[in-house]
Amino acid sequence: MESLSENLAKVRERIERAAARAHRSPAEITLLAVAKVFPAQIIRDAWNEGLREFGENYVQEFESKEPDVRDLTGARFHLIGHLQSNKAKRASELFQVVQSVDSPKLARRLNDAGRPLEVMIEVKTSGEETKHGLAEAELAATVEAVRACANLTLTGLMTVPEWTEEAEKSRAAFARLRELAAQFALPKLSMGMSHDFEVAIEEGSTMIRVGTALFGRRRKP
Ligand SMILES: *Cc1c(COP(=O)(O)O)cnc(C)c1O
Repeated sequence: MESLSENLAKVRERIERAAARAHRSPAEITLLAVAKVFPAQIIRDAWNEGLREFGENYVQEFESKEPDVRDLTGARFHLIGHLQSNKAKRASELFQVVQSVDSPKLARRLNDAGRPLEVMIEVKTSGEETKHGLAEAELAATVEAVRACANLTLTGLMTVPEWTEEAEKSRAAFARLRELAAQFALPKLSMGMSHDFEVAIEEGSTMIRVGTALFGRRRKP
């Protein structure tokens, strides 16, 4: 297996090439290192490589890793997996950003926890029933609800398109998320994963969420 620093160099090169094609600066694109399923040590390794933004999918998993990473200066932790309302309070204690807000109810629960929190709204950009995220039709009301929450700062939208190996097939979903974000004057767009982030960058992504391309294949959780 390749080392993290080699993988990181390759990911950075891919970011640069995609940004160049889109006439964008690579500095506009944040690399979120997705550490789910891997031990806390890989977060420390990635921090040593200069990464500062980290993504986790499960509240409970990060709860067990957090004591081993809380001393990492400048590190910010994003929840990118589905969040149940009954775990909102704990999530607001563990994470600086929750990208997976998908209902006004969840927003209110996070707000009621009483801590300042950056949030993004997860939008479903495909018809797939199993995927989390809210339908476009619910977006306006949810944006309004989040903006009414004093402890929450809404900065953008997030999406996970329907799985396909062919990145090109996700282009329309990424483009749609960009349009929706513009409609609500939201600056951040969290879209693009290991296999499709070039297309996401071409469509305006400001944050790519990368696990496999940095850390290798995950065993099943
Ligand atoms: C796991 C995960 C990622 C990272 O996926 P890779 O294909 O390993 O890069 C990104 N976003 C979300 C929401 C995830 O669950």
